Amino acid sequence: MARFSDEAAGRVLGEIHQREVVELLQRLIQVPSVNPPGDVRLAVEHCQRVLEAEGFRTRIVAIEEHKPNLIAEFGPGDGPVVCFNAHLDVVPPGELSAWKFPPFEGVVHEGRVYGRGAGDDKASVTAQVIAAIALARSEVPIRGTIMVTAVADEEIGGPAGTRAVLEHGGIKPDYVIVGEQTMNRIAVGEKGFSGCKVVTHGKTAHGALPWEGVNAVEAMAEIIVALRRELWPKLKDRTHPYFQPSAATVNLISGGVKANVVPDRCEIYIDRRAIPGEDVVASIQEVRDIAEQAVQNVPGATVEVLNIWPGDPRDLEAIMNPPDAPHVAALVEANRYLDMNTDLTAFSMGTDGRHFFAFGHKAVVYGPGDPRTAHIQDEWVGIDEVMEAARALSLAALELLGE
Ligand SMILES: [Zn+2]
Repeated sequence: MARFSDEAAGRVLGEIHQREVVELLQRLIQVPSVNPPGDVRLAVEHCQRVLEAEGFRTRIVAIEEHKPNLIAEFGPGDGPVVCFNAHLDVVPPGELSAWKFPPFEGVVHEGRVYGRGAGDDKASVTAQVIAAIALARSEVPIRGTIMVTAVADEEIGGPAGTRAVLEHGGIKPDYVIVGEQTMNRIAVGEKGFSGCKVVTHGKTAHGALPWEGVNAVEAMAEIIVALRRELWPKLKDRTHPYFQPSAATVNLISGGVKANVVPDRCEIYIDRRAIPGEDVVASIQEVRDIAEQAVQNVPGATVEVLNIWPGDPRDLEAIMNPPDAPHVAALVEANRYLDMNTDLTAFSMGTDGRHFFAFGHKAVVYGPGDPRTAHIQDEWVGIDEVMEAARALSLAALELLGE
């Protein structure tokens, strides 16, 4: 049962207006905040103006001038801090001719808003800003603080976004909701990653005299086939109640010298996504064991398997909130109240939630949009989804902060 009353919920929901939602989302899409270079200044300024006009206290944290981060707060402060977080930078639009709708106009067509960032992640920024404003406008008594952080630098995993807010912003949120495309489902965790580089070494020779050399590309072929036969099926069997199975895929390959030279080097990159309980170091060793066995099929070839992450490998492990944590429960109550999906899930992609965890703040992932429309041409989000997200976020905040 929700703690909030029907009367309080009605007052908050009554402050969410579709016209304002669409207008804010369009304005944000119209700022081409492509990363790199990741200049989000105009988008941050707009959010700041909108929130200040509603009585929010705002400040900017920036370690790079063109990558400011907004922190906006409302409430008496004598209680928990509920922090919304979403990013304003976007990936490049790619080939422009492949877009039916121009990427930086925010065209509305048949109930959808189109544009780069429509879903990832400006729909979440919009829903969060509007939800926080609705709570403020409603004048329902609250304790604590509702905080909106609209950040830079997420798409390149850079240090100037959420990381900078946590390092320099002096924020201590009790409950964090990171906005990404979960289709308004409650993601209690997110997968970890332990990508690695595999390099085979051989010996060059004239292409006409292959027996004089050791073919590093053919050695890599043995390894790829062995990984597909032995490791991938094992990963598929590693399951978790909230997560998609563990997974890996070979996403980059390079090798060879010239068309008529036996190659002495080949390398691949393995994108490996981990569920809770999987250890980064152990999962790289799994690849190494198979690679070292398989490379023996090409006599003379050797293989190295390298962890390319420079930091502490524990930073990359999957993250998971207790399913009964208050912010999870608040989102469940909000979705239930609105007749939306209350089944818990987990997010397969990486988010800024990882940074909050690293600083000891538990973060769930929740937001409008389908992750399959992110980063593609004609990216879109349904207006109804953004409206639902704004409603659910406002009720979740009410549940956590209401008197
Ligand atoms: Zn995103």
